Amino acid sequence: MVTRRDFIKAGLLTVAGMAIPISALEMFKPEAMASLVRSFSEKKRWAFVVDTTKCVGCGMCAKACKLENEIPFEAEVQRTWVERYIQLKDGDVIIDSPKGAREGFTSNDPYGHEVKDEEITKQFYVPKLCNQCEKPSCVQVCPAGATYKTEDGVSLVDRSWCIGCGYCITNCPYFARFFNPVTNTADKCTFCYHRITKGKQTACIDACAFGVRKIGYINDPNSEVFKIISSKRVAVLKPEYGNEPHVFYLGLDQIVR
Ligand code: SF4
Ligand code: SF4
Repeated sequence: MVTRRDFIKAGLLTVAGMAIPISALEMFKPEAMASLVRSFSEKKRWAFVVDTTKCVGCGMCAKACKLENEIPFEAEVQRTWVERYIQLKDGDVIIDSPKGAREGFTSNDPYGHEVKDEEITKQFYVPKLCNQCEKPSCVQVCPAGATYKTEDGVSLVDRSWCIGCGYCITNCPYFARFFNPVTNTADKCTFCYHRITKGKQTACIDACAFGVRKIGYINDPNSEVFKIISSKRVAVLKPEYGNEPHVFYLGLDQIVR
């Protein structure tokens, strides 16, 4: 089975020496976001903001997520992970996420190859998770009706209905889903639905000492998420798939995929 890590590793090979398509992300001006917010005026809709300019790659979020959601700790599967992007002076880009970054980035040798500081143009970290898409392809392809979207915009998996066919895993353009080896069902980030619906923060937000991650109703004028996306330029990943992701990034670099 091709794991997310394999994919990222393969991506490393393809990215090297190639121009990164700008369509890998889409920048939204605050005015554009205003119409999106208005479209949800009748009902509450959860959304997430990730400020990449603040992330230091400590991985506390990924670790906390595993513990909170009882994802087998040593298994190479995770609901949220952090990617490291290293752009070299020759134009190559290295992307890695060892163990999903649950132990942070402790060495400067992606895939066992040492990278010297003088070779690097820039380096930064990008936390990723399920994008809780408005048009989730995972829901569309599930033949068992096990994957569904809640009224407030969160895609969930009903484990009692999941037959483990993996269609949702292969059809998620964000590689956000995986096969849980304990439950033998599809699994992914739920925005910690069991916590946020009780007024708590997600486990990853509580664990991040740098305020990188935020959750709130996209159409609640009092939520920090609303204030950010209606006043600052934010971006989403892979808009070309038409899923309308609801994880919005601040400070996202054009080389991010
Ligand atoms: S990111 Fe993937 S798993 Fe999450 S809602 Fe979108 S299609 Fe489904
Ligand atoms: S805990 Fe915060 S700073 Fe650390 S890796 Fe996660 S998002 Fe980045």
